[in-house]
Amino acid sequence: MTTLGSETRPLRVAIVGSGPSGFYAAEALFKSDINTSVTMFERLPTPFGLLRGGVAPDHQRMKSVSKAYDRIATNPNFSFKGNVTIGQDITVEELQTFYDVVIFACGAETDKKLGIPGEALPGSHTATEFVGWYNGHPDYQSRAFALKDAKRVAIIGQGNVAIDVTRILAKTTEELSTSDIAQSALDELAQSGVEEIYLIGRRGPVQAAFTELEIKELGVLEDADPVVSEKDMALSEADSTELDGEGNGKARKNVAILKEFADRSGGTKSKKIVVRFFQSPVRIEGTDRVESIVLERNELSGEPGKQKAKGTGDTETLPVDLVFRSVGYRGLPLEGVPFHESWGVFPNDLGRIEGANQLYVTGWIKRGPSGVIGTNRGDSKETVATILEDLITLTPCNTPDQSELDQLLASRDVRVVTFADWQKIDAKEISRGEEVGKPREKITSIEEMFAVLDN
Ligand code: NAP
Repeated sequence: MTTLGSETRPLRVAIVGSGPSGFYAAEALFKSDINTSVTMFERLPTPFGLLRGGVAPDHQRMKSVSKAYDRIATNPNFSFKGNVTIGQDITVEELQTFYDVVIFACGAETDKKLGIPGEALPGSHTATEFVGWYNGHPDYQSRAFALKDAKRVAIIGQGNVAIDVTRILAKTTEELSTSDIAQSALDELAQSGVEEIYLIGRRGPVQAAFTELEIKELGVLEDADPVVSEKDMALSEADSTELDGEGNGKARKNVAILKEFADRSGGTKSKKIVVRFFQSPVRIEGTDRVESIVLERNELSGEPGKQKAKGTGDTETLPVDLVFRSVGYRGLPLEGVPFHESWGVFPNDLGRIEGANQLYVTGWIKRGPSGVIGTNRGDSKETVATILEDLITLTPCNTPDQSELDQLLASRDVRVVTFADWQKIDAKEISRGEEVGKPREKITSIEEMFAVLDN
């Protein structure tokens, strides 16, 4: 019997998705004591998933982790196949004929819905669309946000994505000009009429999902002041117990920052970031496009640490021109892989996909859309440990031959982008950025990326 993971027959692993969890899975495989050959598949010609298309353009330090991924990609047993869509260019079943193991690291690609009337009105957008747009993601370049005609914006949800959206709307063009924001987005933001940004949470300051550094940044912007009402900062007994609880340091820091915001006199800057708590959207109103959002006041009930929002029936109509829904992401199903419909993940036990053979999962599509970039490292280590545990039970794939896979993709007219190709695109973006004082000027269309490669 073939010994998978030996020198003569390395374990052949396909990783679907090239974001942080995918790269950490490759890293854990290379650090293990078995021989592995890894092919990373990516739908776009560019790697790094949300690190490139999600992390805010003005958070460059966070993006520098890509250097570690570059190092992983230099492993001689690593190959990158960009511009290949699994489930479209090649099925999961076909992929399994070429690889012993498939690890899905394809993230949570869509948004949770609010499920309220008016959600689909023009002017009501998901945060994902806006984030993809300003980050130069090719899928979102045709989106338009009518920023020029917008004065008041409501952002629903108080996670770090909502904070990113708030900050990008609140910053001046100068503040953004040294980021790697897509130039087309920067040009539109320069015309923005936005003056008031409402950051709306259904629970209180103690329960807010954002983290300290992110909320703190809203207090030091050049031309925007944060506004928090004293009333929202009055903590209930359950809140105080919750706040004092073990492991709640994040909430304590958040509350201290929010209290400091509430103590400010309002400020004189031209934009206001109004942080609202205890309000849920009940409907978005407008004839042809968004004109207002109806918010219901909530009260919290339940044990400290598990408090839930419950509507009081007390509503307020807030006139707004734009709504961004930022209430979390959700994974998408993929043909040939079991899917947990209500959780939006691939059901798994420590990364081993339940009800499937030799399919594994890591990252947001494994655990749901939570945690920071580093969280994926531990998550991917866990999945790789599971694979190693299963190793002796694995059946070798039928065609452990890269060239046959390449022929199959070529026969389907798939233009595969290698890591060397990506490095050419990368170099072009960096040199374009240098000309305008940005870390990079992203290429935002796939055609243009190919044009760079063809030159
Ligand atoms: P998130 O942290 O899960 O926040 C989702 C927000 O939406 C919460 O405030 C949640 O409120 C609210 N929400 C959910 N359903 C709602 C509903 N039906 N009505 C009203 N509000 C609702 O999600 P995220 O902001 O998309 O971030 C995803 C992950 O990426 C997080 O782990 C985040 O920290 C991370 N991230 C990190 C950074 C960074 O480190 N700078 C940047 C971006 C994202 P409840 O709390 O009441 O459920």
